[in-house]
Amino acid sequence: MDDLKLLGLLNPIIACIFAMMFIVFWFRQREKSYILSIGLSFAGLCIGFLVSHFLIEKLSLANLLFIGVLYTVATTAIISGLYRRAGVAGGVGTLLLIGFSGLALSTAVFLLSDNLNLRLYFTNATFGLLWAIGAWRLRKPVNGCGLDTFIMSVMVVISLQFIGMTAVTLNLSGVLTPENYSSSLHWRVINFSTGISSLVFALTLIAMCAIDLLNQVSLIANQDLMTGLNTRRAFESNAEQMMRKLDRTPLPVSLLILDIDHFKTVNDKFGHPVGDEVITQLGRLLSLRMRSADIAGRLGGEEFAVLLWNTDEVGARLLAEEVRSTFSTLPIDGIPDDKEITVSIGVAELLQLESYDSLYRRADKALYAAKNKGRNRVALAPRAPDKCSVIDAGTMVATPR
Ligand code: GH3
Ligand code: MG
Ligand code: MG
Repeated sequence: MDDLKLLGLLNPIIACIFAMMFIVFWFRQREKSYILSIGLSFAGLCIGFLVSHFLIEKLSLANLLFIGVLYTVATTAIISGLYRRAGVAGGVGTLLLIGFSGLALSTAVFLLSDNLNLRLYFTNATFGLLWAIGAWRLRKPVNGCGLDTFIMSVMVVISLQFIGMTAVTLNLSGVLTPENYSSSLHWRVINFSTGISSLVFALTLIAMCAIDLLNQVSLIANQDLMTGLNTRRAFESNAEQMMRKLDRTPLPVSLLILDIDHFKTVNDKFGHPVGDEVITQLGRLLSLRMRSADIAGRLGGEEFAVLLWNTDEVGARLLAEEVRSTFSTLPIDGIPDDKEITVSIGVAELLQLESYDSLYRRADKALYAAKNKGRNRVALAPRAPDKCSVIDAGTMVATPR
Protein backbone atom coordinates (compact mmCIF):
# COMPACT_ATOMS: atom_id res chain seq x y z
CA MET A 1 0.00 0.00 0.00
CA ASP A 2 1.53 3.36 -0.97
CA ASP A 3 1.67 6.45 1.24
CA LEU A 4 -1.39 8.02 -0.35
CA LYS A 5 -3.46 4.94 0.30
CA LEU A 6 -2.29 4.85 3.89
CA LEU A 7 -3.20 8.53 4.28
CA GLY A 8 -6.67 7.70 3.00
CA LEU A 9 -7.14 5.33 5.93
CA LEU A 10 -6.74 8.21 8.37
CA ASN A 11 -10.28 9.51 7.79
CA PRO A 12 -12.08 6.21 8.59
CA ILE A 13 -9.90 5.68 11.68
CA ILE A 14 -10.60 9.19 12.98
CA ALA A 15 -14.33 8.84 12.22
CA CYS A 16 -14.38 5.50 14.08
CA ILE A 17 -12.68 6.98 17.17
CA PHE A 18 -15.15 9.87 17.23
CA ALA A 19 -18.11 7.52 16.75
CA MET A 20 -16.99 5.59 19.82
CA MET A 21 -16.44 8.77 21.85
CA PHE A 22 -19.90 10.14 21.06
CA ILE A 23 -21.59 6.81 21.77
CA VAL A 24 -19.80 6.56 25.16
CA PHE A 25 -20.88 10.17 25.87
CA TRP A 26 -24.46 9.26 24.98
CA PHE A 27 -24.43 6.23 27.30
CA ARG A 28 -23.85 8.67 30.18
CA GLN A 29 -26.71 10.99 29.13
CA ARG A 30 -29.25 8.91 27.27
CA GLU A 31 -31.86 11.64 27.25
CA LYS A 32 -29.69 13.59 24.78
CA SER A 33 -30.60 11.83 21.56
CA TYR A 34 -28.61 14.35 19.49
CA ILE A 35 -25.38 12.85 20.84
CA LEU A 36 -26.47 9.39 19.63
CA SER A 37 -27.35 10.85 16.20
CA ILE A 38 -23.88 12.38 15.94
CA GLY A 39 -22.20 9.14 17.13
CA LEU A 40 -24.11 6.98 14.65
CA SER A 41 -23.42 9.37 11.80
CA PHE A 42 -19.67 9.21 12.51
CA ALA A 43 -19.99 5.40 12.51
CA GLY A 44 -21.75 5.68 9.13
CA LEU A 45 -19.04 8.02 7.83
CA CYS A 46 -16.37 5.56 8.99
CA ILE A 47 -17.98 2.72 6.98
CA GLY A 48 -18.49 5.04 4.01
CA PHE A 49 -14.82 6.19 4.11
CA LEU A 50 -13.63 2.58 4.31
CA VAL A 51 -15.81 1.38 1.45
CA SER A 52 -14.86 4.28 -0.80
CA HIS A 53 -11.19 3.83 0.16
CA PHE A 54 -11.04 0.19 -0.87
CA LEU A 55 -13.46 0.29 -3.76
CA ILE A 56 -12.44 3.62 -5.22
CA GLU A 57 -11.11 2.11 -8.43
CA LYS A 58 -13.89 -0.44 -8.95
CA LEU A 59 -16.91 1.77 -8.58
CA SER A 60 -20.08 -0.14 -9.48
CA LEU A 61 -23.67 1.12 -9.33
CA ALA A 62 -24.20 -0.85 -6.10
CA ASN A 63 -21.12 0.70 -4.46
CA LEU A 64 -22.12 4.16 -5.60
CA LEU A 65 -25.62 3.80 -4.18
CA PHE A 66 -24.39 2.23 -0.94
CA ILE A 67 -21.85 4.99 -0.26
CA GLY A 68 -24.26 7.70 -1.43
CA VAL A 69 -27.06 6.55 0.87
CA LEU A 70 -24.62 6.18 3.80
CA TYR A 71 -23.16 9.70 3.39
CA THR A 72 -26.59 11.26 2.86
CA VAL A 73 -28.07 9.63 5.95
CA ALA A 74 -24.94 10.31 8.06
CA THR A 75 -24.83 14.00 7.05
CA THR A 76 -28.58 14.36 7.72
CA ALA A 77 -28.18 12.65 11.11
CA ILE A 78 -25.42 15.06 12.24
CA ILE A 79 -27.25 18.17 11.05
CA SER A 80 -30.65 17.06 12.38
CA GLY A 81 -29.01 16.14 15.71
CA LEU A 82 -27.72 19.71 15.93
CA TYR A 83 -31.22 20.96 15.01
CA ARG A 84 -32.71 18.95 17.90
CA ARG A 85 -30.12 20.31 20.33
CA ALA A 86 -30.86 23.88 19.22
CA GLY A 87 -34.65 23.32 19.31
CA VAL A 88 -34.86 24.02 15.57
CA ALA A 89 -38.05 22.26 14.44
CA GLY A 90 -38.34 20.02 11.37
CA GLY A 91 -36.07 20.34 8.37
CA VAL A 92 -35.02 16.66 8.25
CA GLY A 93 -37.32 15.96 5.28
CA THR A 94 -35.75 18.82 3.32
CA LEU A 95 -32.23 17.54 4.00
CA LEU A 96 -33.16 13.98 2.94
CA LEU A 97 -35.01 15.25 -0.15
CA ILE A 98 -32.02 17.32 -1.29
CA GLY A 99 -29.56 14.54 -0.40
CA PHE A 100 -31.44 11.85 -2.29
CA SER A 101 -32.21 14.14 -5.26
CA GLY A 102 -28.46 14.79 -5.54
CA LEU A 103 -27.80 11.06 -5.32
CA ALA A 104 -30.40 10.40 -8.03
CA LEU A 105 -28.73 12.99 -10.29
CA SER A 106 -25.24 11.63 -9.80
CA THR A 107 -26.53 8.07 -10.34
CA ALA A 108 -28.13 9.21 -13.60
CA VAL A 109 -24.81 10.78 -14.68
CA PHE A 110 -23.02 7.56 -13.70
CA LEU A 111 -25.39 5.48 -15.82
CA LEU A 112 -25.60 7.81 -18.82
CA SER A 113 -22.06 9.06 -19.22
CA ASP A 114 -18.45 8.33 -18.37
CA ASN A 115 -17.94 11.90 -17.22
CA LEU A 116 -16.57 11.52 -13.69
CA ASN A 117 -16.04 15.26 -13.27
CA LEU A 118 -19.74 15.98 -13.79
CA ARG A 119 -20.77 13.33 -11.26
CA LEU A 120 -18.31 14.71 -8.68
CA TYR A 121 -19.71 18.21 -9.24
CA PHE A 122 -23.26 17.00 -8.53
CA THR A 123 -22.32 14.85 -5.54
CA ASN A 124 -20.15 17.44 -3.81
CA ALA A 125 -22.50 20.33 -4.58
CA THR A 126 -25.32 18.34 -2.94
CA PHE A 127 -23.33 17.86 0.27
CA GLY A 128 -22.22 21.49 0.16
CA LEU A 129 -25.88 22.50 -0.05
CA LEU A 130 -26.82 20.28 2.91
CA TRP A 131 -24.10 21.86 5.09
CA ALA A 132 -25.05 25.36 3.94
CA ILE A 133 -28.72 24.79 4.86
CA GLY A 134 -27.66 23.33 8.21
CA ALA A 135 -25.42 26.31 8.97
CA TRP A 136 -28.18 28.75 7.99
CA ARG A 137 -30.79 27.12 10.22
CA LEU A 138 -28.32 26.96 13.14
CA ARG A 139 -27.26 30.59 12.80
CA LYS A 140 -28.77 31.51 16.21
CA PRO A 141 -26.44 30.41 19.04
CA VAL A 142 -28.14 28.03 21.50
CA ASN A 143 -26.64 29.31 24.76
CA GLY A 144 -25.50 32.67 23.48
CA CYS A 145 -22.14 30.93 23.55
CA GLY A 146 -19.22 31.43 21.13
CA LEU A 147 -18.90 27.70 20.56
CA ASP A 148 -22.25 27.58 18.75
CA THR A 149 -21.12 30.33 16.40
CA PHE A 150 -17.90 28.40 15.82
CA ILE A 151 -19.84 25.21 14.98
CA MET A 152 -21.92 27.16 12.48
CA SER A 153 -18.75 28.69 10.94
CA VAL A 154 -17.12 25.26 10.52
CA MET A 155 -20.29 24.10 8.77
CA VAL A 156 -19.97 27.06 6.39
CA VAL A 157 -16.32 26.13 5.71
CA ILE A 158 -17.30 22.50 5.00
CA SER A 159 -20.00 23.73 2.65
CA LEU A 160 -17.53 25.98 0.81
CA GLN A 161 -15.05 23.12 0.56
CA PHE A 162 -17.63 20.89 -1.08
CA ILE A 163 -18.91 23.53 -3.47
CA GLY A 164 -16.02 25.95 -4.15
CA MET A 165 -13.01 23.74 -3.73
CA THR A 166 -14.55 20.96 -5.82
CA ALA A 167 -15.11 23.36 -8.68
CA VAL A 168 -11.54 24.69 -8.55
CA THR A 169 -9.76 21.36 -8.11
CA LEU A 170 -11.81 19.58 -10.77
CA ASN A 171 -10.92 22.31 -13.25
CA LEU A 172 -7.25 21.97 -12.38
CA SER A 173 -7.31 18.16 -12.46
CA GLY A 174 -8.51 17.90 -16.04
CA VAL A 175 -10.57 14.93 -17.14
CA LEU A 176 -10.81 12.34 -14.40
CA THR A 177 -11.26 8.63 -14.93
CA PRO A 178 -11.74 5.90 -12.31
CA GLU A 179 -8.09 4.99 -12.94
CA ASN A 180 -6.50 8.40 -12.38
CA TYR A 181 -9.03 9.58 -9.76
CA SER A 182 -7.19 8.48 -6.60
CA SER A 183 -3.95 10.13 -7.70
CA SER A 184 -5.64 13.34 -8.89
CA LEU A 185 -5.12 16.79 -7.37
CA HIS A 186 -8.87 16.96 -6.70
CA TRP A 187 -8.91 13.76 -4.64
CA ARG A 188 -5.86 14.78 -2.61
CA VAL A 189 -7.02 18.30 -1.88
CA ILE A 190 -10.62 17.37 -1.06
CA ASN A 191 -9.58 14.37 1.03
CA PHE A 192 -7.04 16.41 2.96
CA SER A 193 -9.12 19.55 3.47
CA THR A 194 -12.37 17.79 4.38
CA GLY A 195 -10.32 15.53 6.67
CA ILE A 196 -8.98 18.57 8.52
CA SER A 197 -12.34 20.34 8.71
CA SER A 198 -14.10 17.12 9.83
CA LEU A 199 -11.47 16.74 12.55
CA VAL A 200 -12.01 20.32 13.73
CA PHE A 201 -15.78 19.84 13.50
CA ALA A 202 -15.70 16.58 15.48
CA LEU A 203 -13.47 18.10 18.18
CA THR A 204 -15.83 21.08 18.41
CA LEU A 205 -18.80 18.75 18.78
CA ILE A 206 -16.99 16.89 21.58
CA ALA A 207 -16.40 20.26 23.30
CA MET A 208 -20.08 21.09 22.73
CA CYS A 209 -21.18 17.84 24.46
CA ALA A 210 -18.80 18.53 27.36
CA ILE A 211 -20.11 22.10 27.77
CA ASP A 212 -23.73 20.89 27.58
CA LEU A 213 -22.96 18.39 30.34
CA LEU A 214 -21.31 21.04 32.53
CA ASN A 215 -24.27 23.39 31.99
CA GLN A 216 -26.65 20.63 33.01
CA VAL A 217 -24.66 19.86 36.17
CA SER A 218 -24.56 23.53 37.10
CA LEU A 219 -28.32 23.82 36.43
CA ILE A 220 -28.98 20.90 38.79
CA ALA A 221 -26.81 22.54 41.45
CA ASN A 222 -28.31 26.00 40.98
CA GLN A 223 -31.97 25.43 40.21
CA ASP A 224 -34.49 24.07 42.68
CA LEU A 225 -36.36 21.29 40.87
CA MET A 226 -39.71 21.84 42.59
CA THR A 227 -40.03 25.58 41.97
CA GLY A 228 -37.48 26.38 39.25
CA LEU A 229 -36.08 29.10 41.55
CA ASN A 230 -32.45 29.42 42.65
CA THR A 231 -31.16 26.98 45.23
CA ARG A 232 -29.76 28.53 48.43
CA ARG A 233 -26.22 28.25 47.03
CA ALA A 234 -27.14 29.98 43.75
CA PHE A 235 -29.26 32.58 45.55
CA GLU A 236 -26.37 33.56 47.80
CA SER A 237 -23.93 33.67 44.93
CA ASN A 238 -26.31 35.86 42.85
CA ALA A 239 -26.94 38.05 45.89
CA GLU A 240 -23.20 38.65 46.29
CA GLN A 241 -23.08 39.57 42.61
CA MET A 242 -25.90 42.08 43.13
CA MET A 243 -23.96 43.57 46.06
CA ARG A 244 -20.96 44.09 43.76
CA LYS A 245 -23.23 45.69 41.14
CA LEU A 246 -24.28 48.20 43.82
CA ASP A 247 -20.70 49.52 44.02
CA ARG A 248 -21.07 50.73 40.42
CA THR A 249 -24.79 51.60 40.55
CA PRO A 250 -25.87 52.70 44.02
CA LEU A 251 -29.61 51.98 44.18
CA PRO A 252 -31.92 50.80 46.97
CA VAL A 253 -32.07 47.01 47.45
CA SER A 254 -34.43 45.09 49.74
CA LEU A 255 -34.68 41.52 50.91
CA LEU A 256 -37.82 39.48 51.65
CA ILE A 257 -37.60 36.23 53.57
CA LEU A 258 -40.75 34.14 53.45
CA ASP A 259 -41.73 31.09 55.48
CA ILE A 260 -44.99 29.13 55.11
CA ASP A 261 -46.93 29.03 58.36
CA HIS A 262 -47.54 25.77 60.21
CA PHE A 263 -46.28 23.85 57.24
CA LYS A 264 -45.60 20.76 59.32
CA THR A 265 -49.34 20.60 60.03
CA VAL A 266 -50.11 20.94 56.28
CA ASN A 267 -47.92 17.89 55.63
CA ASP A 268 -49.40 15.96 58.54
CA LYS A 269 -53.01 16.74 57.61
CA PHE A 270 -52.96 16.61 53.82
CA GLY A 271 -49.86 14.57 53.02
CA HIS A 272 -46.38 15.33 51.76
CA PRO A 273 -47.35 15.56 48.03
CA VAL A 274 -49.92 18.27 48.88
CA GLY A 275 -47.19 20.00 50.93
CA ASP A 276 -45.00 19.89 47.82
CA GLU A 277 -47.80 21.46 45.79
CA VAL A 278 -48.06 24.31 48.34
CA ILE A 279 -44.30 24.93 47.99
CA THR A 280 -44.59 24.84 44.19
CA GLN A 281 -47.45 27.37 44.21
CA LEU A 282 -45.56 29.83 46.41
CA GLY A 283 -42.56 29.45 44.07
CA ARG A 284 -44.79 30.16 41.07
CA LEU A 285 -46.34 33.22 42.74
CA LEU A 286 -42.88 34.64 43.48
CA SER A 287 -41.72 34.00 39.90
CA LEU A 288 -44.76 35.87 38.61
CA ARG A 289 -44.22 38.87 40.87
CA MET A 290 -40.49 39.40 40.47
CA ARG A 291 -38.82 41.42 37.71
CA SER A 292 -35.84 40.23 35.67
CA ALA A 293 -33.33 42.12 37.84
CA ASP A 294 -34.70 40.58 41.07
CA ILE A 295 -33.37 37.30 42.49
CA ALA A 296 -35.64 34.69 44.03
CA GLY A 297 -34.62 31.46 45.72
CA ARG A 298 -35.90 28.55 47.74
CA LEU A 299 -33.56 28.55 50.69
CA GLY A 300 -34.72 25.12 51.86
CA GLY A 301 -37.93 23.37 52.97
CA GLU A 302 -40.73 25.96 52.98
CA GLU A 303 -38.47 28.99 53.24
CA PHE A 304 -37.94 31.41 50.34
CA ALA A 305 -36.12 34.70 49.74
CA VAL A 306 -36.40 37.48 47.16
CA LEU A 307 -33.76 40.16 46.71
CA LEU A 308 -35.35 43.18 45.06
CA TRP A 309 -33.23 45.41 42.84
CA ASN A 310 -33.94 49.15 42.90
CA THR A 311 -36.63 48.73 45.56
CA ASP A 312 -36.76 50.56 48.87
CA GLU A 313 -38.45 49.49 52.08
CA VAL A 314 -41.80 50.96 51.01
CA GLY A 315 -41.89 49.11 47.67
CA ALA A 316 -40.64 45.90 49.28
CA ARG A 317 -43.31 46.09 51.99
CA LEU A 318 -46.05 46.57 49.38
CA LEU A 319 -44.83 43.61 47.36
CA ALA A 320 -44.55 41.45 50.49
CA GLU A 321 -48.08 42.35 51.50
CA GLU A 322 -49.37 41.60 48.01
CA VAL A 323 -47.67 38.18 48.00
CA ARG A 324 -48.96 37.43 51.51
CA SER A 325 -52.57 38.29 50.73
CA THR A 326 -52.58 36.62 47.28
CA PHE A 327 -51.06 33.43 48.68
CA SER A 328 -53.65 33.15 51.44
CA THR A 329 -56.47 33.05 48.87
CA LEU A 330 -54.71 30.91 46.27
CA PRO A 331 -56.62 27.73 45.41
CA ILE A 332 -54.22 24.79 45.84
CA ASP A 333 -54.90 21.21 44.72
CA GLY A 334 -55.50 19.01 47.77
CA ILE A 335 -56.23 21.91 50.15
CA PRO A 336 -59.94 22.38 51.04
CA ASP A 337 -61.37 25.80 50.04
CA ASP A 338 -62.07 26.76 53.64
CA LYS A 339 -58.49 26.07 54.72
CA GLU A 340 -56.22 29.09 54.42
CA ILE A 341 -52.52 28.45 53.91
CA THR A 342 -50.53 31.50 54.90
CA VAL A 343 -47.02 32.85 54.79
CA SER A 344 -45.04 35.15 57.10
CA ILE A 345 -42.57 37.58 55.57
CA GLY A 346 -39.61 39.52 56.95
CA VAL A 347 -38.56 42.65 55.01
CA ALA A 348 -35.31 44.60 55.23
CA GLU A 349 -33.81 47.38 53.10
CA LEU A 350 -30.05 47.36 52.68
CA LEU A 351 -28.41 50.10 54.76
CA GLN A 352 -25.43 52.13 53.61
CA LEU A 353 -22.21 50.10 53.80
CA GLU A 354 -24.17 47.08 55.05
CA SER A 355 -23.08 43.57 54.05
CA TYR A 356 -25.43 40.96 52.60
CA ASP A 357 -25.01 38.80 55.74
CA SER A 358 -26.18 41.64 57.97
CA LEU A 359 -29.13 42.38 55.65
CA TYR A 360 -30.07 38.69 55.77
CA ARG A 361 -29.88 38.60 59.58
CA ARG A 362 -32.15 41.66 59.87
CA ALA A 363 -34.74 40.24 57.41
CA ASP A 364 -34.64 36.89 59.27
CA LYS A 365 -35.20 38.67 62.57
CA ALA A 366 -38.17 40.45 61.04
CA LEU A 367 -39.55 37.08 59.87
CA TYR A 368 -39.37 35.73 63.40
CA ALA A 369 -41.07 38.83 64.68
CA ALA A 370 -43.90 38.16 62.19
CA LYS A 371 -44.12 34.54 63.38
CA ASN A 372 -44.15 35.56 67.04
CA LYS A 373 -46.90 38.10 66.45
CA GLY A 374 -49.20 35.34 65.19
CA ARG A 375 -48.00 34.58 61.58
CA ASN A 376 -49.73 35.51 58.28
CA ARG A 377 -48.07 38.90 58.42
CA VAL A 378 -45.32 41.11 57.09
CA ALA A 379 -42.70 42.53 59.46
CA LEU A 380 -40.20 45.26 58.72
CA ALA A 381 -36.66 44.94 60.01
CA PRO A 382 -35.52 47.85 62.16
CA ARG A 383 -32.89 50.13 60.72
CA ALA A 384 -31.12 49.81 64.06
CA PRO A 385 -31.10 46.08 64.79
CA ASP A 386 -33.36 45.97 67.83
CA LYS A 387 -37.07 46.40 67.05
CA CYS A 388 -39.27 45.19 64.21
CA SER A 389 -42.49 46.88 63.18
CA VAL A 390 -45.07 44.22 62.43
CA ILE A 391 -47.90 44.98 60.08
CA ASP A 392 -51.06 43.10 60.89
CA ALA A 393 -52.57 41.08 58.09
CA GLY A 394 -54.90 43.09 55.93
CA THR A 395 -53.93 46.50 57.28
CA MET A 396 -52.07 47.48 54.14
CA VAL A 397 -53.52 48.07 50.74
CA ALA A 398 -51.52 46.15 48.21
CA THR A 399 -50.84 47.93 44.95
CA PRO A 400 -49.34 46.39 41.84
CA ARG A 401 -45.70 47.24 41.25
P1 GH3 B 1 -43.78 27.80 61.34
O1 GH3 B 1 -45.12 28.42 61.13
O2 GH3 B 1 -43.18 28.20 62.65
O3 GH3 B 1 -42.87 28.05 60.21
O4 GH3 B 1 -44.03 26.26 61.47
P2 GH3 B 1 -43.73 25.15 60.39
O5 GH3 B 1 -44.52 23.95 60.72
O6 GH3 B 1 -43.97 25.72 59.04
O7 GH3 B 1 -42.18 24.95 60.54
P3 GH3 B 1 -41.31 23.69 60.82
O8 GH3 B 1 -39.90 24.14 60.61
O9 GH3 B 1 -41.65 23.10 62.15
O10 GH3 B 1 -41.73 22.66 59.72
C1 GH3 B 1 -41.31 22.72 58.44
C2 GH3 B 1 -41.72 21.44 57.77
O11 GH3 B 1 -41.44 21.49 56.36
C3 GH3 B 1 -41.00 20.23 58.28
C4 GH3 B 1 -40.57 19.47 57.04
O12 GH3 B 1 -40.96 18.12 57.10
C5 GH3 B 1 -41.32 20.16 55.94
N1 GH3 B 1 -40.61 20.15 54.66
C6 GH3 B 1 -39.33 20.53 54.40
N2 GH3 B 1 -39.06 20.38 53.10
C7 GH3 B 1 -40.18 19.91 52.51
C8 GH3 B 1 -40.53 19.55 51.16
O13 GH3 B 1 -39.73 19.65 50.22
N3 GH3 B 1 -41.79 19.10 50.93
C9 GH3 B 1 -42.71 18.97 51.94
N4 GH3 B 1 -43.93 18.54 51.63
N5 GH3 B 1 -42.40 19.27 53.21
C10 GH3 B 1 -41.17 19.75 53.50
MG1 MG C 1 -42.81 27.35 58.33
MG1 MG D 1 -39.23 27.07 58.09
